[in-house]
Amino acid sequence: MIVVQKFGGTSVKGSQRLQEVAKWIIKTKNEGNKMVVVVSAPGGMTDSLIEQAKEVNTNPKGRELDMLLSVGEQISAALLAMGIEELGEKAISFNAAQLQLKTNDEYNNAKILNIPSEKILENLNNDYIVIITGFQGIDEEGNVTTLGRGGSDTSAVAIGAAINADKIEIYTDVDGVYTSDPKIIKDAKKIENISFDEMIEMADKGSKVLHCRSVELASKYRIPIHLRSAFTWEEGTWIENGKTMESSDVRGISHLNNLANIKINLKNMDELVNHLEENHINVKSFQQLENSEFSILIKKEDALRFYKVLKKIGCSPKLTDNLSMISVVGMGITSNNIPKKLTKILNLNDININSISLNETSVSYVISQHKLNNANAIFHCELFK
Ligand code: ADP
Ligand code: ASP
Ligand code: MG
Repeated sequence: MIVVQKFGGTSVKGSQRLQEVAKWIIKTKNEGNKMVVVVSAPGGMTDSLIEQAKEVNTNPKGRELDMLLSVGEQISAALLAMGIEELGEKAISFNAAQLQLKTNDEYNNAKILNIPSEKILENLNNDYIVIITGFQGIDEEGNVTTLGRGGSDTSAVAIGAAINADKIEIYTDVDGVYTSDPKIIKDAKKIENISFDEMIEMADKGSKVLHCRSVELASKYRIPIHLRSAFTWEEGTWIENGKTMESSDVRGISHLNNLANIKINLKNMDELVNHLEENHINVKSFQQLENSEFSILIKKEDALRFYKVLKKIGCSPKLTDNLSMISVVGMGITSNNIPKKLTKILNLNDININSISLNETSVSYVISQHKLNNANAIFHCELFK
């Protein structure tokens, strides 16, 4: 079997971790598998590179930011290859340029276009453990690109699809997908199986345990993901096709922080869409209010930037920041009474609702950021106890 194993930042931070990971990879190889390994930068390194960039530039972005951020993954890949060699196995590391892993030129959020499989397969056939930098690619011109924060998960699934892997295992610092972030909700419960659609919704609504695009890709190519711990190595959560095995309609709670709302009067929607596109702003939710007033929910840092742009062109936007969005995810959630029940709970607990949005798989509430943990705890207690 061809197995792709992806190791996240905390899993490869420091020599001792790298040695443990190297041993695990060799153990899996010795069970008769061909091994492709995708690595993230050592934990904290990408954040610290961004901080360094901010020391010399107020708004680091584009080509040079990717040139900088791609460095971390290369450090992990080379060190892991050396660690594996030390244990007597053959290993070879590749970065995106060496593999010709092509993306478009949307710097800082590039999309994968093509991954040639020959070099990877040739090395596997020569008994090498192939280690590949996650998160990065190159565009048509050979410029370095990155896939967006958390993007190594997407690299792993895309590589798995390109080489027709039999298994994709994503190793991280928790032992599965939980009913809410286990670092915040201490009695969150581990989920054994979750469908692609539900996991896509949880990731989209802020559960950073998996990069949303990695689950979309896995769903498209029908490859199950086994998300598990690089610390305890125990069985984790299976993200796979089809109906979930458990009976509950509600699967989990996700949240997004540092959001802001902008309300603005414009002639029509086209004008708003043009402004948003020109300023590369990704909208989390959108409402048209009366009298051609529009309301958008976006990341706080984008909102502060966009607010200035709108002021400059003579609009009078209204900004509310320090907002969070809490979402409850589950197939068919809107066809039962859950949204009604949740709204009532927030009202009873004096948590002001800025807006509500619904779709087939989730119900989301925008609330003040300082009420988020409270709402998360009450929702969790109500839905999972
Ligand atoms: P990695 O560096 O391995 O990619 P991440 O930090 O990106 O790891 O993702 C793992 C983290 O995701 C966990 O430490 C946990 O705090 C967070 N997380 C958020 N929501 C969930 C959830 N529903 N289940 C499990 N972990 C979650
Ligand atoms: N190192 C990158 C980040 O921190 C990519 C990843 O870890 O998936 O966002
Ligand atoms: Mg991650």
